[in-house]
Amino acid sequence: MSVEGAGLIRGFIETGRNLVGSYVDPRRWVTVQYPEERRATPENSRVYPFLVYDGADPEEGLRCVSCKICEKECPPQCIYIVPAQDERGRPRKHPAIFDIDISVCMSCQICVEVCPFDSIKMDQAYAWDREDRFGGLLLHKADLARPNRYYRELHPAEARVVDEHLARERELRESGVRAAVRASLPGSGEPGGGT
Ligand code: SF4
Ligand code: SF4
Repeated sequence: MSVEGAGLIRGFIETGRNLVGSYVDPRRWVTVQYPEERRATPENSRVYPFLVYDGADPEEGLRCVSCKICEKECPPQCIYIVPAQDERGRPRKHPAIFDIDISVCMSCQICVEVCPFDSIKMDQAYAWDREDRFGGLLLHKADLARPNRYYRELHPAEARVVDEHLARERELRESGVRAAVRASLPGSGEPGGGT
């Protein structure tokens, strides 16, 4: 048999194997009976952003400090932030308003990349049903807030790195504060400390 003929037969065998395999091997099924059945989402898949909060309070626990970097960097400009104010009208490191228009968001993840505080991450929820196509797709701070445990479930490997990084930062901050307090104590011998 010629080389071309052998190649042709190998091609037929491979096609037949794939055809039969696609009926009997669940790993090769390209469709599932959605929505009753759903495929597990890969860890690195992304849809729209959400805001991470620590602790139990979705408002006060928000990591976002309202620096507006994500708002400036978002290519289609679909983030809108207004910083909160204290009782004297000074800006607080906290958003009063944080909206994302997901009808415009293109899931590029740039907001996540530029956030210096690990406050915004990508969600994997892709099924959105809203009666109002326009207002319903403008997500507000309360719609966007998710606990850190949710982030850990979606992106375990990434969240582990972020948790370690934040714990290290907290430790450095606390040891700096402890050192400053020690230095200010009487008899510390440090400038500013009592003798
Ligand atoms: S999500 Fe991050 S980048 Fe955006 S305003 Fe909040 S802290 Fe700044
Ligand atoms: S994912 Fe991209 S388009 Fe969507 S809010 Fe973030 S920066 Fe904007």
